[in-house]
Amino acid sequence: MSQLILFWHRRDLRISDNVGLAAARQRSARVVGVFCLDPNILRHDVAPVRAVYMIGCLQELQKQYAQAGSQLLILNTDPRQGIAALAVALNATAVFFNRDVEPYARDRDRAVAAALREQGIEVCAFWDQLLHAPKTVTTSSGQPYTVYGPFWRNWSRQAKQPPVETLQQATGLTENEQAIAQQAGTIPLPTAKDLGFIWDTPLILEPGELGAADRLAEFCDRAITDYAEERNFPAHPGTSQLSAALKFGAIGIRTVWAATLEVEQQARSDEARQGIQSWQQELAWREFYQHALYAFPELAEGPYRPHFKAFPWENNEEWFQAWCEGRTGYPIVDAAMRQMNETGWMHNRCRMIVASFLTKDLIIDTRLGEQYFMQRLMDWDLAANNGGWQWSASSGMDPKPLRIFNPASQAQKFDPEAEYIREWLPELRSVETEELVTGKISSADRDRCGYPAPIVDHNQQQRRFKALYQQQRERVGGN
Ligand SMILES: Cc1cc2nc3c(=O)[nH]c(=O)nc-3n(C[C@H](O)[C@H](O)[C@H](O)COP(=O)(O)OP(=O)(O)OC[C@H]3O[C@@H](n4cnc5c(N)ncnc54)[C@H](O)[C@@H]3O)c2cc1C
Repeated sequence: MSQLILFWHRRDLRISDNVGLAAARQRSARVVGVFCLDPNILRHDVAPVRAVYMIGCLQELQKQYAQAGSQLLILNTDPRQGIAALAVALNATAVFFNRDVEPYARDRDRAVAAALREQGIEVCAFWDQLLHAPKTVTTSSGQPYTVYGPFWRNWSRQAKQPPVETLQQATGLTENEQAIAQQAGTIPLPTAKDLGFIWDTPLILEPGELGAADRLAEFCDRAITDYAEERNFPAHPGTSQLSAALKFGAIGIRTVWAATLEVEQQARSDEARQGIQSWQQELAWREFYQHALYAFPELAEGPYRPHFKAFPWENNEEWFQAWCEGRTGYPIVDAAMRQMNETGWMHNRCRMIVASFLTKDLIIDTRLGEQYFMQRLMDWDLAANNGGWQWSASSGMDPKPLRIFNPASQAQKFDPEAEYIREWLPELRSVETEELVTGKISSADRDRCGYPAPIVDHNQQQRRFKALYQQQRERVGGN
């Protein structure tokens, strides 16, 4: 029998276009998958919707392994102990996996690799989740980019790899080996409920690679060519909603890129080409933030800019709760928070609005907002979330020093008919559009609809924030 290779899945829950898995299959016909329900990740503050999506992806992946003739094993233990113990018990010659940019994942992978090597088991790691690995898109002096514009120009010029081969057929464990695997800790795949995550609302994206592939095809058929314009309107279905699939690797990034090239070839107008390029730019934002986190792991802990490190956030607990629950009295902010609380997803325009509101209007530490998003989003991703929050708070790697969103002008511009506001705040459906988008709802209407008065005054808070910001600049220096 050929040598047994374990392929350790983490953020790559698929058998198609998976760099490490394809390499494992090239090396040996005996490839068995393993996934670890890592207690360091599956803590109480994981969004239940995200756990449900992930388990759904694993269910599909198990079926795909079975169809290919092999198995996906599940471990319910810390991978730093579990992976090496399983590989030793099964007499595996190698463990293959795809690398990650997150600080915890990098430490974990180093520990797992050391434990495996100590047992004489080979370790092979690959870059899969990005079109360009960290350190391969750098400034002319070899430094990581801290500004997106030049990163995009360099990134977009570099040749991109096509999708890699799908796992079609592999030999799995014998019955005897399956019994050994069980003794080494493998378990049947639990449901999200078994793990304590309760979420009964239908998901906005079918879990697994079939759902992700369908969504990509549909988006490329329909919305991608109008993306440049439509992506800004939260009431319109103008974006792909592929973020959870990209986070968990239910779709390969090379497959996604190849799909954009195909529509680009067929595009007949400059507008269509612009739409496609604008979506490609979002894929590059995703990579920019992952490269940044890899180069500056300290980003995960707090602000990049020095004068934000000791910023005198006021952290009013009642205001924070009102923001979380969509009760600030600012319709566009509340609609957005309710969309996230009810579906596990929020439109990008609204993520920027609510993040600016939390930091600049409520003067609450960005890290509390980041954490709340982690507890609610199906697509939560450390690099993208941290990047988005630092961009919105003006504390990140961004040439524009201070950005303050006015909720009323944002709503007037991007939800002019208040369709989005009415969808997520049904109690306000009967209120005039003008009142909803400006936020100037009469107290009679507020009382009638049971909708709260604004908890703060935007103009006043904006002045307060600017004054605090100025003080910090004078104290610490810098932009
Ligand atoms: C405060 C804040 C927090 C955010 N938190 C997350 C998060 O936890 N996880 C996450 O995936 N995205 C996050 N984003 C980025 C963005 O809002 C989402 O990726 C996007 O809304 C997902 O919807 P979509 O799949 O329809 O995106 P599309 O518009 O269809 O874009 C395609 C893909 O590109 C990537 N992408 C798009 N915009 C960005 C961006 N600004 N930064 C990084 N990647 C991007 C995503 O993978 C997305 O699926 C955040 C943005 C902000 C402002």
